[in-house]
Amino acid sequence: MRLVDTHCHLDFPEYKDDLEQVIERAEAAGVVRMIVPGTDMASSGKAIGLAGKYPAVFAAVGIHPHGADKTDAVGVSRLRDLAAGNDKVVAIGEIGLDYFRRYSKIENQKRVFRNCLRTARDLDLPVVLHNRDAGVDFLRILKEAAPGVRGVVHCFSADTGLLKQLLQLEMYVSFTGNITFGNAGDLRDAIKRVPLERLLLETDSPFMAPAPLRRKRNEPGYVRHLLDVYAGIYGLTPEDIARITTHNANQLFRLGIEEKPMVAYPIRDSLYLNITNRCTNRCTFCTREYSSYVKGHNLRLDMEPTTGEIIGAMGDISGYREVVFCGYGEPTLRLETVKKVASFVKEKGGRVRLVTNGEGNLISGRHIAGGLKGLLDRVSVSLNAAEAAGYDRLCRPVFGEAAYSAILDFIRECKSEGIEVEVTCLDMAGQDTVSGCRRIAEELGVAFRLRRMNVVG
Ligand code: SF4
Repeated sequence: MRLVDTHCHLDFPEYKDDLEQVIERAEAAGVVRMIVPGTDMASSGKAIGLAGKYPAVFAAVGIHPHGADKTDAVGVSRLRDLAAGNDKVVAIGEIGLDYFRRYSKIENQKRVFRNCLRTARDLDLPVVLHNRDAGVDFLRILKEAAPGVRGVVHCFSADTGLLKQLLQLEMYVSFTGNITFGNAGDLRDAIKRVPLERLLLETDSPFMAPAPLRRKRNEPGYVRHLLDVYAGIYGLTPEDIARITTHNANQLFRLGIEEKPMVAYPIRDSLYLNITNRCTNRCTFCTREYSSYVKGHNLRLDMEPTTGEIIGAMGDISGYREVVFCGYGEPTLRLETVKKVASFVKEKGGRVRLVTNGEGNLISGRHIAGGLKGLLDRVSVSLNAAEAAGYDRLCRPVFGEAAYSAILDFIRECKSEGIEVEVTCLDMAGQDTVSGCRRIAEELGVAFRLRRMNVVG
């Protein structure tokens, strides 16, 4: 399991006696990157020093709103000099507004915030943002001073109105150990509104230690205590949360974490197989058009794996509920490989499911369902349209409108071979289409499942 603590103040005096051990414990807990945000010039300098000394530590440089009164334009330009050209400075932060404590005058906070945002924009760096009770000004300045800037709002509160607007700006958000507290129901409700693709992990060490260690000094290794809470909220495993948030952090901060193309990739209690990136469709909604990643797994293959490589990548399958041919392409383009791997899984006593566009008969030029009997337990056919012309527009198959009737034939044939079949339709297809797909499934006597976009299943 690889984790990233995107916000830990390891430059603070709380770590002066045992920083080495704190970092060792973090690495032993799976934390592969720690981002230390600067809060003023001195703190930013220390963060850079730590980043230079420890390979897993990266720095952000910034002026916290508390220090705004003491920062002039020269101070911000020195910040720029600190950040420019240093590969281990991955962000500008911690910057923002704090109207709760008001340790600095509001006008000075706004001035420094604006200047730091412009610095981030000029250096093409993301920002690490602090907001306390300043939502309206915070959003306005964010939009005006650096439109399009990328970043994370750290230690987010339960302000769902602000959250909605930040997500529209494609900001990431992170919550701290307070999500584990018994009285943090509002926070956990707010998390439910955050797409997992926008979530980062942080401890905000030395503050906000999670529930089992509450009131102790926090440290990056404790970030693991957040995983169970998120896993419960998102209906995934702690491993899924770790992988996805690490991928998110890597995307935002360019942390150099290698993400190899995956042939076999676990999500929840299923093992998915990615055996080709080719497809006979060009669906208008296909995520592979704009991303190599699904739930933190890199599915962009360098080359198609052999049967042996697929079986090798699967490892021990005894702990999985099912093995699913899915991935970033149409598995029946490699029908013989599907059969051999499925045969291997069946010999091991596993369940096999094929997720397909249903065009296998056209791809192979023959009826393929008979050859899949005994090898597949279930087939999920992505229909997504209730008639041929609509399918042609949405999924753009190389076979044109002929694809649709061939898909329906394939469904009938699988059913008559005794293979369980479900027809799926994406929820974004529209109510009429969803109803039409449901009706077709009923007429064919197979199951129907409404799929949410971005939910793998
Ligand atoms: S069938 Fe699946 S892999 Fe192929 S284009 Fe459509 S969504 Fe993408």
